[in-house]
Amino acid sequence: MAGFALDLTVLDDDGLPWDFSEEAKRQKARRLVREQRPYMLIGSPSCKDFSTWQALNMSKSKNPQAMLRAKTASIVHLDFVASLYEEQADGGRYFLHEHPLNATSWEIPSISRVLRRGDVERVHGDQCQYGASVRHGPLKGSPVKKPTGFMTNAPRVARALETRCTGVDGSCSRVGGGSHVLCSSRVAREAALYPRELCRAVLKGISTMPHSSHVIEAMELAKRERAARRRRAFVERHTSLPSAAAILRAEGHSQEDIVEFLPTAVSLLAARRAQKRAEAIDKHVGRIKTARGAL
Ligand SMILES: [Zn+2]
Repeated sequence: MAGFALDLTVLDDDGLPWDFSEEAKRQKARRLVREQRPYMLIGSPSCKDFSTWQALNMSKSKNPQAMLRAKTASIVHLDFVASLYEEQADGGRYFLHEHPLNATSWEIPSISRVLRRGDVERVHGDQCQYGASVRHGPLKGSPVKKPTGFMTNAPRVARALETRCTGVDGSCSRVGGGSHVLCSSRVAREAALYPRELCRAVLKGISTMPHSSHVIEAMELAKRERAARRRRAFVERHTSLPSAAAILRAEGHSQEDIVEFLPTAVSLLAARRAQKRAEAIDKHVGRIKTARGAL
C-alpha cells in the first residue's frame, strides 16, 4: 500500500530535505503524489517558525528581517502541503497533518481553509500519552507533554490520536507517571521525532478504517503480484523437469507463455504419467487374471 511522509526530517532520494519553499521540490512532490496516489499522506512541517516561543523570540530578535524571511518560507511550505491535503481529500484519499497545538500556523488562510472542510477535523493529543520523553541527560525518561494538533479527514486516525494528559500541576497521567519536562530547545528538537507509540496509534487508526475501493485495488494488485511470484518460483523449482518446458517450447510457445502455462503443463504431464501407470497396472492385473484363467 502506498503511503509516504514528506517533511523536513525525511530526506528526499537526492539526500536533501523536502523543503517546499523550493519550487523544484514542490513540483517533484506533487508529481509523486499524483503518480502514486498514496492512501495516506502524512505531513509534519517544521514547527519552529510557528511556535509560541518563536512568537516571543521575534519581538526580542536582533535580526527580525531574517526571522520574517524564515517565516515566509514556512508559509509557502504550509500553503503547499495544504494544497496537497485538499487534493488527497478531493480524490477520496486521506491525509494527516501534525503541528503543535498552540502554533500560530493553524490560523494561516490555507490551513484554516482545509480545517473548514466538512470532511476534516482537528483533534488535540498530548504526546506524553504516546511515549514522548526526554531521550538524554539526567532527566532521561521524563515525560514531555507536547500538546499537538492533528488535522485529518480519517476519523479513525483522529480517534487514535486524541488521548490527552489528565495530570495536574505538571504531573503526567501516563502509565509510568512522572513530571513533565519543559520543552527546551534540545528537548524540542528530540521531540520533533515521532515516538514509536504515536506511529503505532496512526497505524492502528489506519488499520481499522473501512476499506475504500482503492485499498481493495491495492490489495488485489498485491495478490496478483504474489501469485506471479509463486508462479515464477514454481517454474524455478521445476527447471529439473525440463520435459514440460521442452514440450511447450517445441510447440512454439514464447518464454512468457511457458512461464504462464508451465504449472498447468506439469500437472497435465503428471496426470498423463499417472494415467499411464494406471494403464500399466490394469494391463498387469489383466495378465494375472489371464494367467489365473489359464490355470
Ligand atoms: Zn503527560
